Amino acid sequence: MKKRIAILGSTGSIGTQALDVIKAHPDILEVEILTAHCNADLLIKQALEFKPNSVVIGLEKLYKKVADALQPHDIKVFAGENSISQIVESQEIDIVLAAIVGFAGLKSTIKAIESKKTIALANKEAMVVAGQLVTRLAQENAVNILPVDSEHSAIFQCLVGEFHNPVEKIYLTASGGPFRGKSREFLSKVTKEDALKHPNWEMGKKITIDSATLINKGLEVIEAKWLFGLKPEQIDVIIHPQSIVHSLVQFKDGSMKAQMGLPDMKLPIQYALTYPYRFATDYPRFDFMDYPQLNFEKPDTSVFRGLNLAYEAMRRNGNMPCILNAANEVVVNAFLQDKIGFLQMNDVIENCMRKISFIAEPSLEDYIQTDQETRQKAKELI
Ligand code: NDP
Repeated sequence: MKKRIAILGSTGSIGTQALDVIKAHPDILEVEILTAHCNADLLIKQALEFKPNSVVIGLEKLYKKVADALQPHDIKVFAGENSISQIVESQEIDIVLAAIVGFAGLKSTIKAIESKKTIALANKEAMVVAGQLVTRLAQENAVNILPVDSEHSAIFQCLVGEFHNPVEKIYLTASGGPFRGKSREFLSKVTKEDALKHPNWEMGKKITIDSATLINKGLEVIEAKWLFGLKPEQIDVIIHPQSIVHSLVQFKDGSMKAQMGLPDMKLPIQYALTYPYRFATDYPRFDFMDYPQLNFEKPDTSVFRGLNLAYEAMRRNGNMPCILNAANEVVVNAFLQDKIGFLQMNDVIENCMRKISFIAEPSLEDYIQTDQETRQKAKELI
């Protein structure tokens, strides 16, 4: 039986790579639904190639363009943010790949869980913002959340067959991004063009900037806490510039397992879509002679303060990670528009964490309210 996939965010970096994976395995995977926000041209192109049952375009003003192109091909077309959340209820879906970037992916991820769909989770922000709610709903609905983030996929792969063995701690690896080893003085002058040059991964703009500030690793620490049920002190970050060791688990007996491979997001995407099976690929293979050395070092949190802010948000819990995430989305956007400097991004995030009201046990409405309030405050501060 083929697995029928809904890709939320099919026009992004993860979405397009997921389509490459599906194209390579037409006997086991098929596309049921594709969604995009504003890239109507690519959505139409993808739909004509993969022939899904339905597509959704987020911006309603683009409905006519997409509908005119696809309705003659018997592909249903919907528009609007609410339609993205509603479409995941379809009986014809086996897996929802949550690959929308940012808080915008939260509602559809929750709806997919409530509709009892297996989740392949790339949209880490949903877990950062509302991890408590998302994991509780997943438990209540007996839904599996399979990580797509390479580090969390690595931890997950290390834990297969170990579910009854206690974990002492995990190490999330980080490449260190384009500014590894640089001083605050150097960072005070960097531009968005410098920050968008990631040494090892080709990704969407938002996560590329998050990797340059290291806040991406902070978001991943929070994501790991919820995905694997860990305490903050059980999660450590280690810089590994080659991005070959994707992350490690240390068990209670002191033994460690690492998952390794060339940095290619198609691998964790495929593992999530085909779990628990591994299917053959023709991607390039690792050669030890290309990597005679693998290096590890401590992150410099006096320069990359975002990592510490994320640990603080995780420890305080409640709506604090939501505040961190919303402020970060606003400052990244502002940095991409040259409205704020690289180092000021953390100042705004920290300010928001001090100023927005703390809620210890937030509901979904509280998260939405916190997100809106924080965005407004962050914009004022910029
Ligand atoms: P991109 O920016 O490349 O793609 C984002 C996708 O989400 C696009 O399809 C976009 O549509 C859609 N989208 C954006 N805003 C909205 C919105 N308001 N409503 C509905 N859809 C929207 O992001 P990435 O693919 O890089 O990242 C996606 C997620 O995966 C992020 O959470 C990221 O942290 C995570 N991730 C990404 C990795 C990577 O290698 N790229 C690695 C690990 C995790 P449109 O194109 O029409 O704007």
